[in-house]
Amino acid sequence: MQQSGPEPVRPDGTGGGGLPEPLIELSDVTVRYGAGPGSVLAVDKFSLAIPQRCFLSIIGPSGCGKSSVLNLIAGYHKPSSGTVRMNGTEIVGPGPERMVVHQQSTALLPWFSAARNVALALTARGQPKAAAREGARHYLNMVGLAGFDDHPIYQLSGGMRQRLALARALATEAKVILLDEPLGAIDALQRAVLQDLLIRLWDETHTCFVMITHSVEEAVYVSTDVISMSARPGRIIRQQKFDFNRSALAGADSHVRASPEFAEAEEELYETLTAASSGKTAPSEGD
Ligand code: ADP
Ligand code: MG
Repeated sequence: MQQSGPEPVRPDGTGGGGLPEPLIELSDVTVRYGAGPGSVLAVDKFSLAIPQRCFLSIIGPSGCGKSSVLNLIAGYHKPSSGTVRMNGTEIVGPGPERMVVHQQSTALLPWFSAARNVALALTARGQPKAAAREGARHYLNMVGLAGFDDHPIYQLSGGMRQRLALARALATEAKVILLDEPLGAIDALQRAVLQDLLIRLWDETHTCFVMITHSVEEAVYVSTDVISMSARPGRIIRQQKFDFNRSALAGADSHVRASPEFAEAEEELYETLTAASSGKTAPSEGD
């Protein structure tokens, strides 16, 4: 496979020969907005191989380039240099195999019912209207919105809208769900419930989730892999693996966050991010 720049390191610290192809691969990527002296270097020297089936969270200070990275994978813009590939093929634009869920679910159509918003994704995949309507019910059940089929969007709470946005993203049968601070505007109690929903959907659908979050607790709880980024220009300063989500799936969710191991993991990630914002970067795993 053609590569430019250094070989990406996988979040599990491995890289190179013999391993399965990553789902997404960013190689020596930079993102620069504008040109000349006023231009902004948002992302720099960013190389990452995202394995199939992982739940990757990206965390870092505001303005460090997290959304820029996610938008590269979405195909909303191209890197200024370097390459972004999915299954070895360069990403050149948006596609149904990569769905984005934003914080405020702005892509939902407010004059359509919950079911019609989901059915749209299914008719776009070629399903006849009646089947799409039935299929929409399935996805609404998956996200805990059974019985809300006919509710218009404007009657749904913020948390319900995020559930609906997830249902619609899943209905596309995307290979990767890109989540840009999906729970950023949700109150703390709802947020914990929705974190459990995210883990369950990730597990049930065998999909890859790539999520931006500002919450250390959230990153540690839901993810298999966490990337910490430096302040702008955003670079990867640390990659870590976690498996608290497995314990949560096994039904130990009320104990996971209370465990000393969880507190330790949170503390460590905080320290990494604090060191990054004060200019001292923590070493990458494997260094
Ligand atoms: P994050 O999601 O981590 O908050 P972003 O990726 O949105 O960061 O932005 C990274 C940097 O790039 C910020 O300084 C932001 O102001 C700048 N930026 C983002 N999008 C644009 C754009 N379209 N034009 C100019 N600058 C931009
Ligand atoms: Mg952002």
